[in-house]
Order: sequence, then structure tokens, then C-alpha cells
Amino acid sequence: MSRPVPVPTELSEPFWDAARRGDLVIPYCPSCDLRFFVPEPACPRCMAPDWHYAPSAGQGTVYSVTVVHRAPGPGFDTPFALAVIDLDDGGTLLSHVDAGDPEAVAIGMRVRVDFRLFTDEIALPYFVPER
Ligand SMILES: [Zn+2]
Repeated sequence: MSRPVPVPTELSEPFWDAARRGDLVIPYCPSCDLRFFVPEPACPRCMAPDWHYAPSAGQGTVYSVTVVHRAPGPGFDTPFALAVIDLDDGGTLLSHVDAGDPEAVAIGMRVRVDFRLFTDEIALPYFVPER
């Protein structure tokens, strides 16, 4: 997989730190019991600013999927499957799903997170079919 290197921000740095250890963490708002993604300064539902990262088991179901044939920018290898994943423990993620053949990724497919070291600093989360 080839694509531009994500640049961690103050908000996303704990996410990338966890990814480097092979852990998936998702912003969690205790005020309204919501898990959300991507990290934002305030909870997208109740606007509470005091959310924190919570671990996710990284297992879920493909809610929707599209096969991207036209690169969104330089450095992306196409085609690739881009899917909305419903995580079992709450929250949804937009992520690459690597099932070998992008056309093989289907709605309802069970997937789990995996991480691929992209640079020394950045491990990218993506999903693979659960076996
Ligand atoms: Zn909230």
C-alpha cells in the first residue's frame, strides 16, 4: 500500500501512538456514552470537550463499501476498497479493507483491524476479513 504519510496532530497523536503498538483506540464521550471517529475537539453529539480515547477490540462488520479506482491524491495505489466499518464495541470507522481483491469486500463482511508499519513513526490501521 502506498499513500501519503499521515501527520499526527495534538488531537490524533494518542491514536497514532496506540496504532504503533498495534492497538486501536476510539474517541469516547462519557457525557453521552458515544464512541466516534474521527477525533474532534468536542463530542459531535453533545459538544462535551472532555472525551478520551478508549480501546476497541477492532472487530466489526462492513456497513458500506466502495471500490476507489481514481486515486484521491498522489501516492495511492488503486483500486482499493474503502469501507464504513461498524465496530462491535461501538463507533464507526472509514477505513481501507484489504481482502486481496477489492471487489470481494461486501456489506455484512466480518472484519478485524490490523496495522501496517508505514514509516518508523506511523502504523496505519486497516481491516482484513475475519477468519
Ligand atoms: Zn457526547
